[in-house]
Amino acid sequence: MTAASLSELAPPTRLLLGPGPSPVSPRVLRALGTPPLGHLDPAFLVIMNELQAALREVFRTRNPFTIAVSGTGSAGMEAALVNLLEPGDTAVVGVNGVFGARLADIAGRCGAKVVKLEAPWGEVFTPAEVEEALAREGNVKLVALVHAETSTGARQPMEGMGDLCRRHGALLVLDTVTSLGGLPVEVDAWGVDACYSGTQKCLSCPPGLAPLTFSPRAVEVLKSRKQKVQSWYLDMSMIADYWTEGKRAYHHTAPINMVYALREALRLVLEEGLDARFARHARHSAALLAGLAALGCRPVAAEGRRLPSLNCIFAPDGVAEAPVRKAVLEEFDIEIGGGLGPLAGKVWRIGLMGDGARQGSVVAVLSALEQVLARQGKVSRPGVALEAALRVYEG
Ligand SMILES: *Cc1c(COP(=O)(O)O)cnc(C)c1O
Repeated sequence: MTAASLSELAPPTRLLLGPGPSPVSPRVLRALGTPPLGHLDPAFLVIMNELQAALREVFRTRNPFTIAVSGTGSAGMEAALVNLLEPGDTAVVGVNGVFGARLADIAGRCGAKVVKLEAPWGEVFTPAEVEEALAREGNVKLVALVHAETSTGARQPMEGMGDLCRRHGALLVLDTVTSLGGLPVEVDAWGVDACYSGTQKCLSCPPGLAPLTFSPRAVEVLKSRKQKVQSWYLDMSMIADYWTEGKRAYHHTAPINMVYALREALRLVLEEGLDARFARHARHSAALLAGLAALGCRPVAAEGRRLPSLNCIFAPDGVAEAPVRKAVLEEFDIEIGGGLGPLAGKVWRIGLMGDGARQGSVVAVLSALEQVLARQGKVSRPGVALEAALRVYEG
C-alpha cells in the first residue's frame, strides 16, 4: 500500500442514536487531541487524581478504589468478575438480555459455579427472586445484575438488592454501562460492591475506558484471594498500586489521551449537574416515545421499567425493520440499532445518550423514520410523529 492509495480519513458524519457509541462533544475531542504526558509524569498523576474524584461523584460513592480500566465496558465487566471470583465460587447472575448472558459467560470462565436467574427479555428481577436463589444456593460469593440492559431497554430497580446480598454474605456487582451519566446510579446508597461502566454511552466520550469502583468489602475479598487473579492485564491488586497516591507503580502504560477525554467528559457531566442531566434524558425519551407511538411502535419494556438512554421499541406491524434502519442510515445519516437474540428482526434500539439526548436528535430521527415508513404507506397522516413529540415538549 502506498501513501497515494491510502486516502485521507474521511468517514461520513453520522448522528449516533444507536446503542453506543454516542455523539462526542468538541470539548472532549479537543482534550483527546492534547499531546500526551508520560504515564508517571507528576503532572499526569494529578490528572489521574482529578479523574478519580470526578468518577466518585458520578458513581455517587466514597470508595477509595475508583479507577478507569484500560479497555471498553466489557473490560470493566471482566475486571469485576475476574478479581472477585475464584474457581469453585458460586455466582448468581441475572440473565434477561445480552449483557446478563455475557456476565454469566465470564463468571463461568472464572471457574465459578454459575446460577442463572432467568427472565424474559424486557423484564427485570424482583428482590424476592434474588433472595430465593441466595437462600437456595447458600454461600454465594456474588450476585451480578445489569442495571441498564441495552439489548432490551429495561431498567433493573435496585431498591433492597444491596441489603439482601449483605444479609446472605454475597457481594453485589452491577453493570451500569448504559446508565452512568444518564439515569440515577447510587453505588453507596444501593450497597453495590463492584460497579463498572463504559465511556461511550451516557458519558459521551469515545470508547476506550471502563470506569470501575470497588467497595472496601470487595477490596477485602480481592486481598484475601487464595489464588492469583488469572488475568495479568486486569489484575486489580497490581493496578491499584498504579492508581494509589504514593505508590504509582508501573503496571501497563495508561491510555493517556483517553484519560484526558474522560476527564473532560466528566467535567461536562458535573457542570450540567447529575439531576439536570437525568431530567434531560427523561424528557427527550418521553418525547421520542410519544412520537414513536404515533408511528405504531410499542416499547419492549413495561412503563416504569424503561431506560431513557436506550429506547427499545417493536417496529410497526408488517414492517421489515432492517431496510428501514438501512434507509435511515444511508439517506439521513442517522444510526439507530436493530435487535439482538430473540429480538433480532423485531425491534429498533434508539439511544439518546449523553450529547445525543436533545430535541434536535428526537426531531431528526422521528422525521427520518416517518419519511421512510410513509413510502410503505405506514403513516396515518404526515407529521403525526413530530406533532406527538412536540406536544410532550410543550406539555
Ligand atoms: C455496551 C455494553 C457493554 C459492553 O461495553 P463495550 O464497551 O461494548 O465493551 C456491557 N454492558 C452493557 C449493559 C452495555 O450496554
